[in-house]
Amino acid sequence: MKWNLPAALPILGLWHAVEIRRFTEAESADGRFGLYLPETRTILIDSSTPEHLRYEIFCHELAEAINDMNDLNLKHHQMCAMGLGFHDVFRNQLTEEAE
Ligand SMILES: [Zn+2]
Repeated sequence: MKWNLPAALPILGLWHAVEIRRFTEAESADGRFGLYLPETRTILIDSSTPEHLRYEIFCHELAEAINDMNDLNLKHHQMCAMGLGFHDVFRNQLTEEAE
């Protein structure tokens, strides 16, 4: 299965960048592989993350973005559940592709 992450996408009508690069020590401090940066409207994914996990992280950061933009104040486990739910929905929309 090939997961194509967009370089940018609108979330709730506002364009966000999706950047895949090596995290700094501070960015990866809690052992995380994804970050949502509201100031720059960027979803960051650590390039050390195996390809097959990047889309799952991207889905989690989508949940983080929607939470932040709507001031939902969700608990982190709720955003995790939302991210996994998005991932499950999107996965079924993607076509199988040889890598
Ligand atoms: Zn999170």
